[in-house]
Order: sequence, then structure tokens, then C-alpha cells
Amino acid sequence: MKGPTEEEIRNVIMPLMLSGAKMLDRHCPRCGSPLFEKDGRVFCPVCEYRERKRKAEMKEEVKDVEERLREKLTQLANSLPEDIEELEKHLRVMEKIIDLLERYKRLEGSE
Ligand SMILES: [Zn+2]
Repeated sequence: MKGPTEEEIRNVIMPLMLSGAKMLDRHCPRCGSPLFEKDGRVFCPVCEYRERKRKAEMKEEVKDVEERLREKLTQLANSLPEDIEELEKHLRVMEKIIDLLERYKRLEGSE
């Protein structure tokens, strides 16, 4: 992984230095940023920032998929076929979508 970008220095490292965190003369083995110490905890602010950003992006993606699934579910519910066999197939698909939505819900709740 690359070292801190200008944006990360501006948004992560600078505010941290101003907040009174101590910059150590050790560097993060993953990204090369200087490590910091605050309240007895040594950490890499850049890796933490990237992790938070990644999680937020993932959440957005999940939300997107969820929305599309919900739309599909409504569509399916509004167009139930008369034929029993067709109806069964239809319901199975709906069941799967509901299942997926439940799983996404658990995923979101796990943070
Ligand atoms: Zn790091």
C-alpha cells in the first residue's frame, strides 16, 4: 500500500497533530505513515482512515443492491401469474430476495 496522500495528510495527520496526539518516530509497516499515540494507544491514522472509508463505501454498495432488490420484489409482487406452476417459481424467487434482504440487514447490524 502507498504512503499517505496529500489529502490524507491534510485531513487525517494534520488534525491529529493539532489535537495533541503524539507523533512517534516509528512508521506503519503497511503504509509508511508515521504512527501516533493518543490515550496510551499506538495506531496508524492513515490505515484507520482508509478502513473507515472502505467500510463506508461498502455500505453504500450494499444499500444500492438492497434498493434494487426491493424494487424487484415489488415488481414481482405486483405481477403474480395465474398459472400455479408459474406462481410457484415466482414465489421462490421472491423468497430468495427476502432471504438476501434479511442477510444484508444482519450485515449492517454487525457493526
Ligand atoms: Zn498505516
